[in-house]
Amino acid sequence: MSFINLFSNDVAIDLGTANTLIWMKGKNIVLNEPSIVAFDSTTKHIIAIGKDALAMLGRTHKDIKIIRPLRDGVIADYEITEGMLRAFIRKVSMSWQPARRVVVAVPSGITEVEKRAVRDSCEHAGAKEVHLIAEPMAGAIGIGLNVHEPVGNMIVDIGGGTTEIAVIALSGIVSDESIRIAGDEMTSAIVQYFRRTHNILIGDRTAEVLKCQVGSAYPLEEELEIEVKGRDLVSGIPKMITVSSVDIREALSESVSIIVEAVLKLLERTPPELASDILDRGIMLTGGGALLKGLDERLRRETSLPVHVAEEPLTAVVRGTGKVLENLSEYSSVLIKSTRY
Ligand code: ADP
Ligand code: MG
Repeated sequence: MSFINLFSNDVAIDLGTANTLIWMKGKNIVLNEPSIVAFDSTTKHIIAIGKDALAMLGRTHKDIKIIRPLRDGVIADYEITEGMLRAFIRKVSMSWQPARRVVVAVPSGITEVEKRAVRDSCEHAGAKEVHLIAEPMAGAIGIGLNVHEPVGNMIVDIGGGTTEIAVIALSGIVSDESIRIAGDEMTSAIVQYFRRTHNILIGDRTAEVLKCQVGSAYPLEEELEIEVKGRDLVSGIPKMITVSSVDIREALSESVSIIVEAVLKLLERTPPELASDILDRGIMLTGGGALLKGLDERLRRETSLPVHVAEEPLTAVVRGTGKVLENLSEYSSVLIKSTRY
């Protein structure tokens, strides 16, 4: 019996703009942390990643910088992204062997240069074989759809930096839309709302909590009142005000409308046979943004189609990527074709 092969190091990665998740062959999800890095601003040496870096946010001095290297759905900083990926892979590697085979989910709108960068990062981290899969495809597999069928499925994945909308059939993406409006934009819309309407400055993290707890895209059965603390922009001192979930919905309405518009636009571009499949099966929502209250209802009203929120939408993409890793031969047709140069 060989001990070295006891733990297989093959991994599947959802390199999200907000969260990175890693699936290890035979072990399911082994890492789920924010895609955030703290580094020395002069040497670019990484000081902390993930949860540890998040805990430093707002508490650093001028020599430490904290960034989300994938913020807008693209790789804003290659060097830091690579460092983060390596550190995450190292964190979950149980033996001295680097990961041999890696499957990474990437946004469907990613450029060739960015694909190259993701491949290179994994190879530098020791991977022998790197495969890429488009996020909506991974999401579809993660929620259990049979993507090989000659039947159309529509997936809407709302992450931090991007919303990816795709129609999938016969193991491929038939048509897609990728927009840079998603969870982050909703969070900043809440910050702007308080600044504009109440002259109060609130932090991003406060805004995100408000979004997740009382944010909505459709009237709630019972609207909520909440107390919000911030800094008065006129007097400069801390202040508390009461707002309602109706106000927060108003603040989010522009971002939500843009997402709804993008879904409608893709439906218009969908061939009739596939459109009729989607009419039967409905639209599937994945990604953290799928958890926004009433988003499913809002989409149902605007598209007149059935809309389903995936179970555990935040892990759908990594579960699908993991499934592909564990059954590579069955899923080879869904991978992004590699262009070597
Ligand atoms: P990515 O794939 O880009 O890393 P995720 O799928 O992990 O993104 O989703 C992260 C986004 O989901 C964040 O913007 C987060 O604020 C948002 N989110 C998480 N939970 C909720 C919730 N309950 N309501 C609204 N948005 C949420
Ligand atoms: Mg994602």
